[in-house]
Amino acid sequence: MRIVFVGPPGAGKGTQSARLVSRLDVPHLSTGDLLRAAVNEQSPLGKMADEYMSAGRLVPDHLILKLIGERVLRDDCADGYLLDGFPRTLVQAQAFDDVLAEVGESIDAVIELVVRHEVLVKRLAKRGRSDDTPEVVSKRLRGYEEQTRVVTGYYQDRGIVFRIDGEGTPDEVTARIERAVAEASGGRLRRPN
Ligand code: AMP
Repeated sequence: MRIVFVGPPGAGKGTQSARLVSRLDVPHLSTGDLLRAAVNEQSPLGKMADEYMSAGRLVPDHLILKLIGERVLRDDCADGYLLDGFPRTLVQAQAFDDVLAEVGESIDAVIELVVRHEVLVKRLAKRGRSDDTPEVVSKRLRGYEEQTRVVTGYYQDRGIVFRIDGEGTPDEVTARIERAVAEASGGRLRRPN
């Protein structure tokens, strides 16, 4: 299955996406991770991306599309993948659809983890990271909300967006996600080992 996973900082996206990729046995494709690897390798793309990333800006769409377009064509993506941090703009969503359409594929599900703003602010404050001050947290959450609206709005009409309640215990949230994925896959989800 090809899944887009979205969730604000503090929603438990790291934990839940790790569980989901191990359950589905598909690669976890985080554009942030791929970009950081490219920066470390000092590849031409990494050098270009570095400027934007260190300024906290989005890397231009054409660079991201090249990066992810090449990655999803690798053999390990044949049975699907989980996209994390991509698409982040309308241009990315549309262009990626075109890439998939060329090989007769499409996104199967968009999983959105939903946690109330005040709960996120509290959770992030507890982490106590230096970039977790109330102002910075609010700014990141606002940025996230704008980005997510674009992405979920784009896929909404296809009926593949699953808004998952991200509050409760991690196991409760996992169970909700697995139900949504089972529904999206039309029951093709493998039983746990
Ligand atoms: P992340 O780890 O997802 O927070 O991404 C870290 C940084 O990588 C972001 O601040 C952006 O500069 C860049 N980035 C990651 N994914 C994308 C994307 N889909 N489009 C543009 N820039 C991205």
